[in-house]
Order: sequence, then C-alpha cells, then structure tokens
Amino acid sequence: MKKVVKFGGSSLADAEQFKKVGDIIRADESRVYVVPSAPGRRFKGDSKVTDMLYSLYDIAAEGGDFSGILGDIRGRYDAIIEGLGIGGFTLDEEFDIIDRKMSTEPEKDYIASRGEYLNGRIMAAYLGFEFIDAAEVIFFDENGSFDPERTNKIFRQRLSDIPRAVIPGFYGSDMDGKVKTFSRGGSDITGSIVARACHADVYENWTDVSGFMVADPSIVPNPKAIDTLTYRELRELSYMGATVLHDEAIFPVRHAGIPINIRNTNAPEEKGTWIVESTAQKPKYVITGIAGKKGFCAVLTNKALMNAEIGYCRRVLQAFEENGISIEHMPSGIDTTTVVVHESEFLDKEQRVIAAIHRLANPDIIEIDSDLALIAVVGRGMRSMRGTAGRIFAALAHASVNVRMIDQGSSELNIIIGVENKDFEAAVRAIYAIFVETQL
Ligand code: ASP
Repeated sequence: MKKVVKFGGSSLADAEQFKKVGDIIRADESRVYVVPSAPGRRFKGDSKVTDMLYSLYDIAAEGGDFSGILGDIRGRYDAIIEGLGIGGFTLDEEFDIIDRKMSTEPEKDYIASRGEYLNGRIMAAYLGFEFIDAAEVIFFDENGSFDPERTNKIFRQRLSDIPRAVIPGFYGSDMDGKVKTFSRGGSDITGSIVARACHADVYENWTDVSGFMVADPSIVPNPKAIDTLTYRELRELSYMGATVLHDEAIFPVRHAGIPINIRNTNAPEEKGTWIVESTAQKPKYVITGIAGKKGFCAVLTNKALMNAEIGYCRRVLQAFEENGISIEHMPSGIDTTTVVVHESEFLDKEQRVIAAIHRLANPDIIEIDSDLALIAVVGRGMRSMRGTAGRIFAALAHASVNVRMIDQGSSELNIIIGVENKDFEAAVRAIYAIFVETQL
C-alpha cells in the first residue's frame, strides 16, 4: 500500500499544525510521499505566505526595497522551525539566494513557488524524508501547459529508488528550466501528479474541512458531508463553484484510476470524502450535491423557422467565439436559442456580440437577460429515480423562487437551473431541504 499525502496551507500554517501533520504521516507507514502547500492563514485576517510573496514581487519588480516583507516571510518560517525544535536546521542559505535573485532578476513564478519550496525543506528535515525539488520532475511545454507525459516518465524514474520523499506543491519548470507555477491552489494538482507517477493506491488530500458537503456551508448551515463522489460528479460540482479541490487536480489520478480521499487535518478520525472513478455505492440521498454561481447572462435569439435553417446555431455561437467568450449552456426551443455566458466576460463586449449575431445569423429578435444565477443539482443516482425534477421544482415553487431556465445535462448527471441572483441562496436551501432534510 502506497499513499501520497498533500497538505493544504491551513494544515501547515504554523508549528502546531505541522505537528498534527507529522502525527498523521507517522500514524500510517504507507504515507510515503508528502506534498506540502505554503503556510496559509493562522487566524482570520492573517496573510497567506503565497500572497506575501506576490506582494514582494510587486515591490521588487519596481526596484523597491523588499527587505521588510522578506523579513516578515522569513519570520513565519523561523517560527515554524523553532516550534518544531529541528536543531541545526536553518534556511539562511535559501533566504540569501532568494534575496540575491530578487535584487537582480525578479521573477514572479519563481518567488511565488518559494512558499512551497521552503515549507518542503522544513517538512523533509522534520520527517527525515528526502527532498525532491518539483522543478526537476514536473514540466510545462512550449505553450506553458503542463506536460503530463514527459513529467510522468521522468518523475516515475526519479521516485523508483526513493522510498519516502517530500515534493513541494504548486510548481514545476518550463522548457527553459525556469520555475513555473500552476494557477492558485495548484498544490492539489502536484499531489495528483505524484500519485500517478508512483502508482499510489490512494491520493489523500488533507485540508481544513471534512470533505465535500452536499451544499455550500456558507448558504446551508451544517450541511451533510458527501461520503463518495465520482470524478464526473466532482467535475460538475467544482466547475459550478464547490472549491475544496482545484478543478484540474483530478486529471492525473483519473488517468490511472487512483481514488482521492479528502481528509481534515484537524479531525483526522473522520473518513472524509472519497472521489472515485465509478462506484456501486448508492449515494445517501438522491442527489449527491448542489453547487452554483451568480453572475450569468442569457442571450436569447429568436428567428422564425430557425429549426429548419441548417447551421443557425453554429453561426450564433461563432459570434461568441469571434469575441473570445466561452459558452456555459445553450438551451434551445423551436424558434429560439439561448446562450448562457459569464456576465464578467460578456459585458464589455455585448454590443460587438450583438452586431456579430445579426451579421452572421440574422435573427428576428435578440434579448439579453442579466443577473442570472445557475445552480447545478448533481447526482449519479438521479438517472434511475423518478420524480427528481418534480421535487426540485416543487421545492422552488414553495420557496417562491421563479425558475428562469432549465437545462438537463445529456449525461443525466445534473440538472442546471437558472434563477435570479437574488433568489440564489433561497433556491439552494430549498433544494437541499427537500432532498436531505425531507428524505421522501
Ligand atoms: N500556495 C499556493 C496558493 O496559495 C498554492 C496552493 O496552496 O495550492 O495558491
């Protein structure tokens, strides 16, 4: 049995948290590869080290004096080293290198990656594990995209004779050998890459919540936890706003069929959520989860006999493509089609898009609806249950929520509901209540 364990920033924010992590790793011999994030917030209002590093870069890039903020960052690490009592270990040399580099040729990704790098150095010393610099084993291609095949080949080889190691999260290197980071929260991706490279049995992702919840706890108080999720359900939920795991983190492990187990560093006795390729386990409720986001626009076009006009939808979509706007959903009727887009991407370009739709598709009418929220009700169990949609819409009607749009995904894994932004929270609560609290 081999496990890869990734710990998020709040799990490594100070020495106390580090000790919990040490206990978790030592409690299970099979936890052999460790992926740390940078130290996160210790308390409400505190700074994440990664944010401090980005601020340092802004100062250094303007040729300013960054010694104050570098000193603050150093203070965070020194306090961890001291609290752990790792005698003889220091980051003096590392901070000299950082100081020199930022004074001569400041690089944004390089400095941002130091949060994980330095935490990895401490973690390796604390556990007595080998340290592997992620820049030597994780690669990006000439377009700046992650290169899975090159990475997997080299990484696998490197791990083959290292039984236990710490590999910092969040970064790798580009074609020129320069450090390059993933997007924010990217240590989740690193953990997944390590799991694939070593053929792990499990990828444990340790954070500060006990897994995925059926609904967002900031909307529904104390929501139930989800025991098991499939990769596909996770994609739907995280795309629609559930933020426990980085969107792209499933791809490397999915490729190898390795399950992810989301766990809570502050409550290690809890089982957390399992994310698997496929499962015969029935979800506890008909739905697996609810997620959603505000801030969408719907662009409706109407044209008599649209259904008989070959290529009409393509031409409408081309107007969005020409303006670099990605499409969320496209429910259509006989003479109408609606394109749902992110308001933030669309607003600046709306008149250009309208002109392009007229030029390309020549509809009779174009109407725009704004302030729309989308809610995804996701569940592998919905396909085989009758009445699910009926229950959702009855619950919304009872909560006086007006439904503006419905789109059932062709996978029957989700039902997407459009409501007004102002009704968003009430709608989520009503759907949660009907499936979880009133288990008919
Ligand atoms: N430290 C990075 C961030 O704050 C990456 C991570 O934590 O996953 O985004």
